[in-house]
Amino acid sequence: MTEPKIRILGEDVVGKISAGEVVERPASAVKELIENSIDAGADSISIEVESAGQALIRIADNGAGMSAEDARLACLRHATSKLRNIGDLDRLSTFGFRGEALASIAAVSRTEITTCRSGDNAGTALELESGQISRMKPVGRSRGTTVEVRNLFYNVPARRKFLKTEATELAEIASVIGHFIVSYPDVEFRFQSGSRTILHATKGMGDIDRMRLVLGADVAENMVDVGLSSGELSVRGYVSRPSSTRKDRASQLFFVNGRHVKSKILGDALYDAYTSMLERGRYPSAVLFVSIPSSAIDVNVHPTKLLVKFDNEKEVKTLITNAVRRRFDALKAEKALAQEVHFIQTPMPQSRGDAAGAGAFIADAPAVQGQFTYEINKDEVRSRSASWGWPSAKAGMITSGSGSAEIFQVGNCYIVRMGEDHIEITDQHAAHERVFYEYFTRVVSGGAHDLQSLLFPVRIDLSSNEAMVMSKAFEPFKRLGFYIEPFGERSYVVQSVPAILKDRDIKTVVMDALSDLSERDLNRVDIIDEMVKIMSCRAAVKAGDKLTVEEMYSVLDQLHKCELPFTCPHGRPTLIELKIDDLEKMFRRK
Ligand code: ADP
Ligand code: MG
Repeated sequence: MTEPKIRILGEDVVGKISAGEVVERPASAVKELIENSIDAGADSISIEVESAGQALIRIADNGAGMSAEDARLACLRHATSKLRNIGDLDRLSTFGFRGEALASIAAVSRTEITTCRSGDNAGTALELESGQISRMKPVGRSRGTTVEVRNLFYNVPARRKFLKTEATELAEIASVIGHFIVSYPDVEFRFQSGSRTILHATKGMGDIDRMRLVLGADVAENMVDVGLSSGELSVRGYVSRPSSTRKDRASQLFFVNGRHVKSKILGDALYDAYTSMLERGRYPSAVLFVSIPSSAIDVNVHPTKLLVKFDNEKEVKTLITNAVRRRFDALKAEKALAQEVHFIQTPMPQSRGDAAGAGAFIADAPAVQGQFTYEINKDEVRSRSASWGWPSAKAGMITSGSGSAEIFQVGNCYIVRMGEDHIEITDQHAAHERVFYEYFTRVVSGGAHDLQSLLFPVRIDLSSNEAMVMSKAFEPFKRLGFYIEPFGERSYVVQSVPAILKDRDIKTVVMDALSDLSERDLNRVDIIDEMVKIMSCRAAVKAGDKLTVEEMYSVLDQLHKCELPFTCPHGRPTLIELKIDDLEKMFRRK
């Protein structure tokens, strides 16, 4: 008889294999140990590493601590104080429940645990080597637990080989700690690498300060808070203003019942809330906390619990999207989005300017020449500059240019409107494009719209190429509210148009739209969607169009009635507002 090929693995091998699932790299050990500290009720946790955690990870907390007997048991596989029977899995309120972390970490390192409960005469020190307790003795220490992990993976060379550079592993540890910093605002965290303090979040730090520490000032300072609940489900946290976007999703942090998770569902829900506000390839930032009954999720689908499964994905998605949308609606009301102007350059010293030369300003008052650069999106550093003559407080008569004392146009591109305590500057094309975009979106989704029959139908004659595009665009045009009839082989007659367009040059609008369409791959794009975008752009007034006062008022009036007035359909800003306060900063009065 031959010996069987299949053999049951020894305990030590099993230990090392399953350790690989929980403890993949130093950062995963750090995560497990911090979770244990939080589960133990600690409100101050210090993390020290050497050589990015490979030489040493030391985590000290002021939590409940363990008795000598519990400390001994804690290091056994499947030893946990947090789960007694299978029913408890539905009622979890702690990070841990599998009882694997300490055993796994101890199996692949030299571990020492020092722990003490309040009221105990002495604490316990425990030394482990490859998972076996080698020494246990009483020690003095204050309440809490310290776990020291030395030479991680010393006995698993394969695992060690897969580690990245120290810089990368250290960054990974910092990122893990960052997740706790933003999700446990009442806990102090201190992270040291060698003698260098990398992160220190004190107890008194507010949410924004903690986000600044973890995600950087740019992200943190452009966040707005959100919150919404529905039954037992709720979401709260922070999302970025639409104009503050990033090129990837790295600054999106999601937490479910306090646990950091990666979730496509949550990412999509967030993204959906920003529809038409983001440029292609740009993503919002967010720190969002979802709270959901633990019976409605499964966290046990991933070895390090990084993934979570929702029983009712749709409900969660809708809640997040609504929370963000509602907040933006409220913001719109507050007009707070318009204040996204950050001055990055103080004005030049005052000098006497040439008022008339500067455009539509008064002639009799001394003017101040101000040069400033404003930054709309710090992340992208999309900046523009303008050189203006500035009217004095007692405004006089307008001597040149088009406009009135309250509203005028600069460079045939920007509409400037004066308020009591602010100046509003609107990009006429971006603004009008937003107006038409919302209008056409409503029309194609079945909303009511007015048609205007043309007193003199407009005939357009097309090239064969244009005629081919028209044959495909014929129906979409109709959906948008254009009634166009074929008229001979390559000619068409426009009979009626959306009333909103009645004063525009119809022939140009239609021809321009056809020309734009001919550049698209009509077999690949959604032609209706594309038409909405093209018509919005083509129907809108252009940069360079001179506007009458009525037209300027009309653009602003329509813009302010929009659902999302502060960005154009491509995500660029439509208007900015300079408050007295901003001016005072520019002139260094403040
Ligand atoms: P789990 O967290 O899944 O229970 P662990 O292996 O991480 O499993 O920990 C085992 C047990 O050890 C825990 O249930 C807890 O009772 C105890 N323990 C671990 N770390 C600490 C700590 N920092 N403070 C107090 N008790 C701890
Ligand atoms: Mg644990």
